[in-house]
Amino acid sequence: MSPRETNASEHPYGPAVGNLIDQFATLPGIGRKSAERLTHHILSCSESEALQFADAIREVKKSVRFCSVCFNLTECEVCAICADPRRDRDVVCVVEQPRDVTALEAAGVYRGLYHVLQGRISPLEGVGPENLTLDALVRRVRQDEISEIVMATNPTLEGDGTALFISNLLENEPVEITRLARGLASGSVLEFANKEMLADAMRGRQKF
Ligand SMILES: [Zn+2]
Repeated sequence: MSPRETNASEHPYGPAVGNLIDQFATLPGIGRKSAERLTHHILSCSESEALQFADAIREVKKSVRFCSVCFNLTECEVCAICADPRRDRDVVCVVEQPRDVTALEAAGVYRGLYHVLQGRISPLEGVGPENLTLDALVRRVRQDEISEIVMATNPTLEGDGTALFISNLLENEPVEITRLARGLASGSVLEFANKEMLADAMRGRQKF
């Protein structure tokens, strides 16, 4: 805790206000000042408006889960992409997180399925291959007649390392492994790439 931060119980309006500020401050990109501004906004809302917000959070946590096939986020057993009969079922694009699926879908050029790893191998953060959805990926390759795996991990050191690990893992499987072209700047992350860049990268994918 930095010296500027006050203890929740010491907030002049009382602990409930201090606690809400602390909660907002845990959100990505929200500093202490923004957390205070958001808290004042909630305090100025009607009770029903504020509770709608709380209910929306409760609702997503209750109803959203991982797709049992690809580990994308969904409110059903199987996500909308896996359930779509128009998708190419023999191509699977491997990404780190659900947000990458959203980014690639917005580019609008890919018609295959996905596999969400739920992270990347990161020894420094204690994330090993066993923490990713790799067993399920291998199972899909063996059972679902997949002819191509498109590596779309982030073009970072850890993303590249993860792609390399997976290509070794699938070495003896009868599947072609490609990866996105380097239209993407090294060190960038998929979710912040623009649509055109992602579309180029997907079209120009190469053999891994
Ligand atoms: Zn799915």
